[in-house]
Amino acid sequence: MIARPQPEGRAALARDVRATVRDVPDFPKPGIIFKDITPVLLDAALFTRLTDSMAAAAAALQVSHVVAIESRGFIFAAPVAQRLGVALVPVRKPGKLPHRRVREEYALEYGTDALEMHEDALGAGARVLVVDDVLATGGTAAATRRLVERAGGTVVAFSFVIDLTFLNGRHQLVGTSVDAIVEY
Ligand code: AMP
Repeated sequence: MIARPQPEGRAALARDVRATVRDVPDFPKPGIIFKDITPVLLDAALFTRLTDSMAAAAAALQVSHVVAIESRGFIFAAPVAQRLGVALVPVRKPGKLPHRRVREEYALEYGTDALEMHEDALGAGARVLVVDDVLATGGTAAATRRLVERAGGTVVAFSFVIDLTFLNGRHQLVGTSVDAIVEY
């Protein structure tokens, strides 16, 4: 019997992404192991498989918008939005967006940071997929969910390339489904 080609399993993709992501110790400060996704971008076939898989996982959710978290989230969110055939909305650090904005602050280890989104980007009834490269403590993603809600939308799912599970970020995202290609 001749084996038919099978659609790619998530396990094979996860293995290849895991083997390609580069660990950079002590960046941006001592004690942090930075997950550098740029080697994934250098591999055109792998980058395509990855964003195909992120889009496929969201295909049944009937999302109307992909919301992209600055800045590495932009890289993955744009091809996912195009594959899903839906709108793309950037969430940015303060001072970057030119039009009227909604703003949410979130706690950092020391102090606070903030994220902004154009207030007219979504509209009532928007069904949103939020995309970023890494889920760490979840503060950034949780602030993004609050922004989406303030702009009239609902986050139906989060999609990450990497989940640093030991930081328990999913705890901050309870109530919304969370997908990640690779878990550490
Ligand atoms: P957090 O709000 O703690 O979930 O942090 C998430 C944001 O910080 C994401 O936008 C990530 O790109 C970035 N980030 C946090 N920790 C790391 C890490 N170890 N490696 C790469 N990026 C990280």
